Amino acid sequence: MRRKATKSRKTAHSDSSPLISDPSLAKHGKAALAALAKLGIRREFDLVLHLPLRYDDETHLYRISEAPHGQTVLVEGTVTDNTIRYRPKRQLVCTVEDDSGVLVMRFLNFYTSQVKQLAPGTRVRLFGEIRQGFFGAEMVHPKYRVVRGDAPVSDTLTPVYPTTAGLSQSNLQRMVHAALAASDLSDTLPPQLLGEFKLPAFRDCIGFLHHPPPAAEQTALQDRSHPAWRRIKFDELLAQQLSMRIHYDRRRNASAPPLPPRGQLTRALIERLPFKLTRAQHRAIAEIRTDLARPHPMQRLLQGDVGSGKTIVAALAALQAIENGHQVAIMAPTEILGEQHFSKFSGWLAALGVSVVWLAGNLARKQKRATLAGVAAGEAQITIGTHALFQDEVEFHKLGLAIVDEQHRFGVHQRLALRLKGAKSRAGAQPHQLMMSATPIPRTLAMSYYADLDVSVIDEMPPGRTPVATRLVSDARRDEVIQRVRDACIAGSQAYWVCPLIEESEALQLQTALDTYQRLLTTFPELKVGLVHGRLAGAGKAAVMQSFQSGEIQLLVATTVIEVGVDVPNATLMVIENAERMGLAQLHQLRGRVGRGAGKSTCILLYQNPLSQLARERLKIIFENSDGFEIARYDLRLRGPGELLGARQSGMPMLRFANLNADLDLLEAARNSAQQILRHQPAIAERHLRRWLGGKQHYLRV
Ligand code: ADP
Ligand code: MG
Repeated sequence: MRRKATKSRKTAHSDSSPLISDPSLAKHGKAALAALAKLGIRREFDLVLHLPLRYDDETHLYRISEAPHGQTVLVEGTVTDNTIRYRPKRQLVCTVEDDSGVLVMRFLNFYTSQVKQLAPGTRVRLFGEIRQGFFGAEMVHPKYRVVRGDAPVSDTLTPVYPTTAGLSQSNLQRMVHAALAASDLSDTLPPQLLGEFKLPAFRDCIGFLHHPPPAAEQTALQDRSHPAWRRIKFDELLAQQLSMRIHYDRRRNASAPPLPPRGQLTRALIERLPFKLTRAQHRAIAEIRTDLARPHPMQRLLQGDVGSGKTIVAALAALQAIENGHQVAIMAPTEILGEQHFSKFSGWLAALGVSVVWLAGNLARKQKRATLAGVAAGEAQITIGTHALFQDEVEFHKLGLAIVDEQHRFGVHQRLALRLKGAKSRAGAQPHQLMMSATPIPRTLAMSYYADLDVSVIDEMPPGRTPVATRLVSDARRDEVIQRVRDACIAGSQAYWVCPLIEESEALQLQTALDTYQRLLTTFPELKVGLVHGRLAGAGKAAVMQSFQSGEIQLLVATTVIEVGVDVPNATLMVIENAERMGLAQLHQLRGRVGRGAGKSTCILLYQNPLSQLARERLKIIFENSDGFEIARYDLRLRGPGELLGARQSGMPMLRFANLNADLDLLEAARNSAQQILRHQPAIAERHLRRWLGGKQHYLRV
């Protein structure tokens, strides 16, 4: 998405290189521009919005003899000596004197040019911490600069900006300074809005944050609770909310085939189900039913914890489309899950005469051609596939609904590609879209990041589930775990054994899985043991999963490929090796593979000592909590929203200033204001977005 935006900008200013989207930055030279781009700075105003990490207090110049030790201070003096010493280690040692005392300045890393620069007689200003050292009172690696003539001391705190290799702090400071002087800092927001939320003027806040007076309250600056920070955070959140609402409204105005509920198929399926739908499922279905009947594309996210029963909701949505003569595409992130959906949907729908096809990645050429022809002719009413669904060769006759399972696993481009399939088919319009996610998202995040979607939540588990018991077991007690697996399998249950996660290397991950499998084969000669991992070819994977599903395999050794969606109710025991390496969301998802039937289930988290502080905390959380929403709240605190949402692939940049844990009140204010502004003052929205997003639709979700 972002790449695309840069491209179109490039054509707009064809005289600039892709890095320079703002001609007023061009003066800085290529290397600096590349560094700026790395910091996300592409136009002059981005420099205005590049706020300090912290501040140095260089407002007070101490006499050397009076400067307090143990805190950063500014002193000034004349270099009287300058020697490279070799003991205890090669270093540059300079003596600096003022009329009150002497100080040693020491550099363990230095350039030869510095030796010349600091020749005796040079007047220097040093900023650093004085300590009692090897050579007496000394500063090691102070920030320093050579002063000539009259150099007044700064009357504001010195900003320290986040920077990157190839861009010095002082250069960046100069650039920001120049940008502040050259930019329009007038307010984008009307006074009554600022009054309502007690927000100070933009110009004042920006000036204050770049150059606060020495008396400014340091903690409020550091923890960003200062009113100036709150104003900036409000602006950022408002830009985000505005752009997402605009996007939402725009899509709301696009056309989609109306698919009113007709009831024949959906009713027939509900009658055949071996269970009764939960109230939460009914509610979600009702919301979807209404959406589909509209002549505008549905954009709905269906959220529900692992095992809450999203698949049947998706099936009922699919049937409503089929009742109206439209096709449905269902996309799953893994072959295992796709295959499982295929068998589940086939099981539910074959008796209703609905044709379901599985577009596996590894179909033989001839078979594939036949399947694709069926999809293009409209004979396939439901097409289930993985990423293979996006390929150009897949053409639908009349695509009315696209369902994306585990949507956070897909990138923006993939979702866009699927939507285009609908536009190209005979339906001629965008298909309705239902996205499903088992990553429960705390309310704050949902409000912020899904402001452009409608959200249905299944907040209730099907009845009769016994909660999964979680056990934390040190690797030293592995024997007991082995006995437990043996007992469970001999008693007729099945078990998963999840291999350690090796994130650094796929080859190593595979090797670990193979080793674990070999080891467990020897450990359990009396059991039928199977292995499934990501590198297994599609058909092989399917065969293993099938054998596990049918009960033939008793113990399934698996990598985290089974993390999403796999549903085998007879499996009641899961062992996760090196659980301390896994994240909270992952552990929760994995654990959700058991406890799916009536039997009592257990999840054993094997861990290796010593545990890091973070690992200990994660294991404690997963041990104490079973509610996915609760776990997600902890996860948000431990990891931050970026990781939690998989935002890197969502195509949306994360908020830079606002913190969704701390700034819920601002988020709510921004959200309400966005709606008011769009309704009554669209010109303000435009100006505000131009300032914050530079015309780019940054927060746009496809
Ligand atoms: P998820 O939300 O994780 O995708 P699934 O749709 O796979 O969950 O459902 C988990 C299991 O619960 C499946 O075996 C499904 O058939 C079953 N199920 C779904 N809804 C109900 C219900 N209302 N009552 C009983 N079992 C249900
Ligand atoms: Mg699912």
